[in-house]
Amino acid sequence: MSYQPENTLQQCEPSPTNADGKKDRKCFVCNKKFGLGKKYQCCMCQNFVCNRHCMKRRDEEKESKIYICDVCDIEQMKEEIKAEILQELNKLNENIKLAKDSYEKTEAARVKKAAKVSKLEEELLTTEKRQKAKEDEILAQLNEELAKGRKAGESVDITKKELEELYISEQKINEKCSLNEVKNEETKAEILKIKEKKNELLAQIEHLSGNLKGSLPLDQVLPHLCDLCKKRVSVDGKYLTRDSDKKHDDGSLLSND
Ligand SMILES: [Zn+2]
Ligand SMILES: [Zn+2]
Ligand SMILES: [Zn+2]
Repeated sequence: MSYQPENTLQQCEPSPTNADGKKDRKCFVCNKKFGLGKKYQCCMCQNFVCNRHCMKRRDEEKESKIYICDVCDIEQMKEEIKAEILQELNKLNENIKLAKDSYEKTEAARVKKAAKVSKLEEELLTTEKRQKAKEDEILAQLNEELAKGRKAGESVDITKKELEELYISEQKINEKCSLNEVKNEETKAEILKIKEKKNELLAQIEHLSGNLKGSLPLDQVLPHLCDLCKKRVSVDGKYLTRDSDKKHDDGSLLSND
């Protein structure tokens, strides 16, 4: 910071005047009487000082040397230091502002990023949930299909079993039928045999009767027959019959043939 004097009065060495009525007999700083030595007038406060309490300074604007007393010099230095401190303070404030801006920007970015991340996380969670629900649904469908398949298999098994049982029953019935047929055949055959035998026997009887009739004379046979047989023979041989006698001698009944 450049020094700019308020007072334009160029009162330099030696100062012969007392322009503003300032006392020019004693030094303003050390109060010593000026003797023969030089005295200077401060161009800031206009006071007179001895050469021990006077400073030469360079006036930047006028590019010349000016005089300034120790008091003003100290004040000036104070001002300069103050200004420097102020400047440093301003710089610091500026830096703080920059840092703050930067921090705010970073913070804003961080917040934005965090929001984005949380949104992404939420989306991921939603997607995961949706996928899980879909998987569960598919699993449920699969289980249902499996259950259906199992049920169908069971039905098939039951039907198969029923069919097998039916086959077995049919087979049994068939076996029974064939057995009955065989039995029927056997019975028929037996009946036929019995009939044949009967016919044979009848034929034999007929033959025997014929033989009896033809071979022997009735009066020779009669004495060997029982009463009933005698009556039967007498029917063939025109004998009279009596209804009261219908039993042979051995007690067997008379047949109708
Ligand atoms: Zn002095
Ligand atoms: Zn001064
Ligand atoms: Zn008889």
